[in-house]
Amino acid sequence: MARYRGAACRQCRREKLKLFLKGDRCYSDKCSFERRSFPPGQHGQARMRKESDYSIQLREKQKVRRIYGMLEGQFRKYFKMSDRAKGVTGENLLSFLERRLDNTIFRLGFASSRNQARQLVKHNHVLVNGRRVNIPSFFIKVNDEISIREKSRKIEAIADSLEAVARRGVPSWLELDQDNFKGKIKSMPDRQEITMPIQEQLIVELYSK
Ligand code: SF4
Repeated sequence: MARYRGAACRQCRREKLKLFLKGDRCYSDKCSFERRSFPPGQHGQARMRKESDYSIQLREKQKVRRIYGMLEGQFRKYFKMSDRAKGVTGENLLSFLERRLDNTIFRLGFASSRNQARQLVKHNHVLVNGRRVNIPSFFIKVNDEISIREKSRKIEAIADSLEAVARRGVPSWLELDQDNFKGKIKSMPDRQEITMPIQEQLIVELYSK
């Protein structure tokens, strides 16, 4: 599956927000957004003109797409699915994004970023209900049990991430059994659990043009 291969920190600077794409580094003073919080490029520090409605909507969509590490085509597919599903389209979109297996691994604290979670899934370290699943976009369901394969439990990055999970906390729709490297889906993700500043309505307006 294609993915963005450019500099992660550049994306935070472009969106003028810390997107937490690099795990522990994002919480340290090495975070480049702390030192240069202006957009990249020659005109990054120039005074911005008043932004149009379109540009505000576009930036919101790009921000969410980048948080979840998706390319435009995939993201648009999620929007179409959300639009067809019952309920509020914007909330459906965030719920679908949260239900991805790579995001769930990150939320449970087995990885320090969604990018690292994607690697764990692709490299066959993750089981869903006891079966190996190596598709990062796999949708989890209520009562699913996510675990780390026995052989993979010694991976240092997983242990480090689990140590750091206290800082982020596990959302209430998940239950973590840290000692047994397991997690359970208690309910579907709730909009209120997503604490990043996201205005999903702007994305709906952009794609509805
Ligand atoms: Fe963004 Fe993390 Fe880079 Fe800071 S360290 S700019 S939060 S990706």
